[in-house]
Amino acid sequence: MIRFEQLKATPLHLGITDRTGGVSQGVYGGMNTNFYNPEQFENACQDIKIAIDALGLTGKIIVATRQTHSNHVLKIDESTDFQNLDEIDVKYTALSDYRLYSSPDTDALMTNRKDVILMTFYADCVPLYLFDPVNEAVAIVHSGWRGTSNKIAETVIKEMAYHYHSEPQHLFAGIGQSAGKCCYEVDEPVKTLFRVHFSEHDMNCFFEPKANGRYFIDLKKANELIFLENGLKSDHIEINPACTICKSDLYHSHRKANGGKRGSMSQLCQLI
Ligand SMILES: [Zn+2]
Repeated sequence: MIRFEQLKATPLHLGITDRTGGVSQGVYGGMNTNFYNPEQFENACQDIKIAIDALGLTGKIIVATRQTHSNHVLKIDESTDFQNLDEIDVKYTALSDYRLYSSPDTDALMTNRKDVILMTFYADCVPLYLFDPVNEAVAIVHSGWRGTSNKIAETVIKEMAYHYHSEPQHLFAGIGQSAGKCCYEVDEPVKTLFRVHFSEHDMNCFFEPKANGRYFIDLKKANELIFLENGLKSDHIEINPACTICKSDLYHSHRKANGGKRGSMSQLCQLI
């Protein structure tokens, strides 16, 4: 479980799982939170429960994303009708005391409720969080190259400003373990898609040309730029430099698994 220094002594309990501490085995081991894989369902529920307990989360409602590399943000508040979400049957699992909901076509969650656990999934894509300590609101985000190229982090900052009156200079942000610039190669069509929302100057900060005509891309840097351009303070942004592809023994990696069988890591949080 990976935690962020700047969140210590705040009401936000937040962490990102790695491959340690759970009951899952083999390519899914030692911890896998992906309950969407029916073959791994019971072990994943147990690993989620272990992660919830490790973070000291007390909520009994879990809302998880069903991610599609979209820019869709789900806001959870007192008026949220959970019946509009997909409820996952967790009877006879380690999560039997919880209600587990899945939000379709969703890549970010935000709330100011103190009784709801938020959950997102990763294996190379970038985990982001945004925390407003003034208005006590939080968002967690799944930002792969597609989400980053569409600036999902900016969408979330604007949604937080609109719904919670969050001011960017008050926000704290985190960037978790993900595919690093050392390993993450993309081709020209990917770079072309970034041109829609990024200037050439900005792109030069996070695209590094390779001799083979492809590029190394630094998605952490790209998301940091989005945070800064939207008014966040640089000393409010905490970045975990770890590369999931380099260290696939410690982190689940989609690219390292060649798109085959692999587990997922999760960002989990609750305002308490
Ligand atoms: Zn690497």
